[in-house]
Amino acid sequence: MRRIRRPVFAANWKMHHGAMDAREYMHTFLGAFTRHSDRTLIFFPPAATLLACSEALKQRSEILLGVQNIHWEDKGAFTGETSASIARDAGAHVALVGHSERRHVFGETDEETGRKVAAAARAGLTPLLCVGETLAERERGATEEVVLRQLAAGLAVVDTAHATELAIAYEPVWAIGTGKNATPEDASVVHAAIRRYLAERLGERAKHTAILYGGSVNRSNAAVLLAASDVDGLLVGGASLDAVGWSKIAST
Ligand code: PEP
Repeated sequence: MRRIRRPVFAANWKMHHGAMDAREYMHTFLGAFTRHSDRTLIFFPPAATLLACSEALKQRSEILLGVQNIHWEDKGAFTGETSASIARDAGAHVALVGHSERRHVFGETDEETGRKVAAAARAGLTPLLCVGETLAERERGATEEVVLRQLAAGLAVVDTAHATELAIAYEPVWAIGTGKNATPEDASVVHAAIRRYLAERLGERAKHTAILYGGSVNRSNAAVLLAASDVDGLLVGGASLDAVGWSKIAST
């Protein structure tokens, strides 16, 4: 089957790998990973590691960098924060917004994710909006309701008519870093609901919006998850930390 959308392999390093580790990682990764023109690769290193990655990937412009989190304002007195344009200047093309750790560890609200998506688009970064239900929400049958609410809030402020690009990641909270992944069937059901929502909101452009699955992806389940209908790519945390292991997953 020919895919409409290029598969996306996104590595979220979370708070791992400083500049020195990252240089070594990229050296090993680039040695192990054969170029594939049919897919998009994105690394999300810590913000302070972006420049080192950008230098290490200078000759590989097909591999993109992203920032794990941004502030919703363009500049100002926000100690410790990173704006979308600062991330862009450090080499980022994509901004992760609303990752479950931002929502559940740092208390990021739906409303804030909307402002961050808009800030990313203003700075010319592609927002990769993460949505996903907790175990309690899943157990009470509220998965779709939660995911669609997060989507609506995440896209509430951005000018979707003009925002050039957008990507979504479905990451059930109970699957992140737990070793319990969603089944391909379960992921497909949620991805299809996301696609329907995007079609109402974006029309034809929804066909080109990548919807990634994330949550305990590893070498043994990557292929089957990627083959599930409406799954256009994978967002991977733990299993992306090892350069050789990630080169294998990204070659799936
Ligand atoms: C993530 O951090 O987005 C993630 C999916 O983590 P893991 O692959 O470790 O579950």
